[in-house]
Amino acid sequence: MTLVSFDIDGTMFFGDPPGTITLDLVHKAKQLGYIVGSASDRPRRNQQELWDEHRVEVDFVSHKHHLDQIRERFPAKRYVHIGDTDVDKYFAEMHGFDFYFVHELPEAGSEGWIF
Ligand SMILES: [Mg+2]
Repeated sequence: MTLVSFDIDGTMFFGDPPGTITLDLVHKAKQLGYIVGSASDRPRRNQQELWDEHRVEVDFVSHKHHLDQIRERFPAKRYVHIGDTDVDKYFAEMHGFDFYFVHELPEAGSEGWIF
């Protein structure tokens, strides 16, 4: 089981500023049975509203400095966080997540990537 956490601003296409992560990618992760959610600086309620607006059912909404709580809540083999800043990287690595910069995502099929 893989868990994928997305930052929102600068990462998701509906963030401010918009990032490059599309709903396609999120749906693909869900179809593969991954645990999917967001860890952003935005209030959790606002994150939930954004997902609802785009009709995506997520497993969690959290904050990047609380990724450890997500780890505790969802036992998984692999934890991945995708974001656009060094702060994302800092908290992801602190909490044992593999981190990918949104502007440096591996191509589909690359070794070690989630697809
Ligand atoms: Mg961001």
